[in-house]
Amino acid sequence: MKLELPQIITQIDHDLHLCDEKSWQKDLRDVVTEPEKLLTLLNIAPDDYLQHFKARKLFPVRVPLSFIKRMKKGDFDDPLLKQVMPLSSEFLLSDGYTADPLNEHDTVAEGLLHKYKSRVLMIVKSACAINCRYCFRRHFPYQDNSPNKKRWQSALDYIASHNEISEVIFSGGDPLMANDDHLTWLIGQIEQIPHVSRLRIHSRLPVVIPNRITAKLVTLLKCSRLKATMVLHINHPNEINQELIEALEPLREARIPLFNQSVLLRGINDDAQVLINLSEALFDAGIQPYYLHLFDAVQGAAHFDIAEADAVAIVKTMLASLPGFLMPKLVREIAGQANKTPINLA
Ligand code: SF4
Repeated sequence: MKLELPQIITQIDHDLHLCDEKSWQKDLRDVVTEPEKLLTLLNIAPDDYLQHFKARKLFPVRVPLSFIKRMKKGDFDDPLLKQVMPLSSEFLLSDGYTADPLNEHDTVAEGLLHKYKSRVLMIVKSACAINCRYCFRRHFPYQDNSPNKKRWQSALDYIASHNEISEVIFSGGDPLMANDDHLTWLIGQIEQIPHVSRLRIHSRLPVVIPNRITAKLVTLLKCSRLKATMVLHINHPNEINQELIEALEPLREARIPLFNQSVLLRGINDDAQVLINLSEALFDAGIQPYYLHLFDAVQGAAHFDIAEADAVAIVKTMLASLPGFLMPKLVREIAGQANKTPINLA
């Protein structure tokens, strides 16, 4: 008897990884949402940093325990902690920094952005497992784009009626916040649209909760008619540990191409040696360095920004040390432009 894809997935799930989905969803329930608790877990006295805590009202705190375990205890300047710790400087209003730096609040259908001719960006889920303080979508009106099967349908109808779309990019929030059953349904619907040939998943979730790489997810991507790729988001080499390397192994075995994009962030990775180490660690983990983004000018996070000239100097130093295939492209996203703009290094 020939089994259909959903049956194969169910069987594998039963045979091998009965608790997979429960495992990552438990990790999700256990995320730390209080700055006090975050600092206490790191042996940092919360009372020394009380002035920063109210910034969580601007953007909630969410940090998975797996990510916290990779931070250095007792170090308020830890590069992973700095990505998630609210700061009072988020209240500063800076000229040129806006709530929607990429003009993304205009969707063509519910939860669907059509910025690039052949590609659409689908907001599969509105939430993330981790809230990165520098996120250019920290002000995105997710409540107006809170996806479910009914809302996904209008996006699917739009994709079906636009023959020029060959690639669907799952984004968010974080698209892997959708459970495997919902992803199976959604990918099945896209597979029925003949002009779509590629599926790209942009996700930080496997990085911060490696248990998210379930057997069911791997089988779904491996068996799909669509050529699937995954673009991870890792900014610092300390984010890559053995737990993550092992979790990604089934994706590598399934020949799902893995890429990485980073954001250049003041005080976190604005250092050529850190980025050289990152490229090497990514390659060792089977992940191809892809993009190094200049910071998008989002209001409340200007303290992460660095000057373009400084970014160019960092990248030139990297070029002198790394082989070409380990060099991420330095790019900037400019609102309204049909593709990312490469930065001139001359
Ligand atoms: S995971 Fe991505 S979308 Fe979510 S907060 Fe971080 S940068 Fe933003």
